[in-house]
Amino acid sequence: MGPLNRLVGALREASHCVALTGAGISAEVGIPTFRGSGGLWERHRPEELATPEAFWRDPEKVWRWYAWRQELVFSRGPGPAHTYLARLEEAGYVKAVITQNVDGLHILAGSRNVVELHGSIRRVRCTRCGHREELAGPVREVPPRCARCGGLLRPDVVWFGEELPRDALSRALEETEKSDLFLVIGTSGAVYPAAALPALAARRGAVVVEINPEETPITRIASMVFRAPAGEVLRAVYEELS
Ligand SMILES: [Zn+2]
Repeated sequence: MGPLNRLVGALREASHCVALTGAGISAEVGIPTFRGSGGLWERHRPEELATPEAFWRDPEKVWRWYAWRQELVFSRGPGPAHTYLARLEEAGYVKAVITQNVDGLHILAGSRNVVELHGSIRRVRCTRCGHREELAGPVREVPPRCARCGGLLRPDVVWFGEELPRDALSRALEETEKSDLFLVIGTSGAVYPAAALPALAARRGAVVVEINPEETPITRIASMVFRAPAGEVLRAVYEELS
């Protein structure tokens, strides 16, 4: 039995398959990854841009960077990996998608049960009154202000040194504990606590599958490994299943 058939078989047998996705899945549509070669952090130091301290020191600088990233995100549609994950959910094979990405592309692709662990760059939050707003496009003024109270708006994402939204984290843990098949797709396995989820799933007896062109710390606990773009693997799996 080939590796792809093993994965297809595992998806058929699984009662609760959960996917954890990271930057690699969005790199396939041209949104740069944070780590790895060509990653955003090669040119920008995260501690200068994605921390609360950086924001309060220079909100305009941080917002210029986010406005640029928003331009990128709002100009891209979902890639094949997003699309086939959504179709696998629709067909009943995948129960939840936990993502470290802030680009909102899983939701745009049609995935329904999505846990956005690190928030969304398509949303802003008022630092004064807490008001949240979904954006239709990149912010126009930098830094943007709250329409309700005039306070400074920030991207509704989790920055370095900040806690994950409690609700998202508890949903992610719940889905992970329920899973008997856990797909780890395009994540470097370097950012905690997301990186701890595959090991938790494995301890609970789930079969862990890694889909990533590169080796990661997840590789050693994975029972199946695919060194290929996620879009290709998921498309092949979906076509086999339907
Ligand atoms: Zn406000």
